[in-house]
Amino acid sequence: MKYLVFSDVHANAEALETVLREASLTRVDSLVSLGDVVGYGADPERCVHLVEENADIKICGNHDLAAAGVTDFSGFNTIASISIEWTRHVLGEKDIRLIRDYDPIVSRGECLFTHSSPCDPLGWEYIYTMAQAERIFGQFEERFIFIGHTHIPGVISRRSGGGAKIERKTTLALDPETRYLINTGSVGQPRDGLNRASFTLIDLDSGIMEMKRVLYDVAGAQMKIRTEGLPESLAARLATAR
Ligand code: ZN
Repeated sequence: MKYLVFSDVHANAEALETVLREASLTRVDSLVSLGDVVGYGADPERCVHLVEENADIKICGNHDLAAAGVTDFSGFNTIASISIEWTRHVLGEKDIRLIRDYDPIVSRGECLFTHSSPCDPLGWEYIYTMAQAERIFGQFEERFIFIGHTHIPGVISRRSGGGAKIERKTTLALDPETRYLINTGSVGQPRDGLNRASFTLIDLDSGIMEMKRVLYDVAGAQMKIRTEGLPESLAARLATAR
């Protein structure tokens, strides 16, 4: 079983299309979207449709639920709020219904999928520390726990009987005695300084996991944001990836 797991597309169709091309080239069995399909970017409809056509598991993010009118966005900063207002305006009824059907958390065999912390899938906690990772490993049984939300990719592993540690390699030979917390980063708005779409490939049969980055048409995505009159900082940050 080979999964391609991605998160935080943020209405960036150029980035998502590049990741989907990669998925067909590497012949994955199943695609998983960890949420925040919309918000910030200029192509929410196209991204909702692409996720609907291609992803087998669809998880909801905080921006998705705000755009679909399920939650309020009083806690969002000004730029995010402007973007959510705009997104609500351009999404059709059918798109809103598709977003409302996204799941908060899904367990499939050895894998658990959610947007933020699985401990409280709709609480939108950002996972950054080893203490948070230990709490998650303690509370769940799955061997692979996939999250997004921070837009910063990374893997924390925990060997049975040992403590949690950060994995530095981007390609990992999976150890049968080890569990993994995988932040798959962001497709459409990376924030680790590398302006390439981020996602994870995991092959459960061969036991190999890859944290992938691919170049996409950043200038094309920026142009659409500017054309729609969305805040300039949303276009600028696609290039700086901050
Ligand atoms: Zn996000």
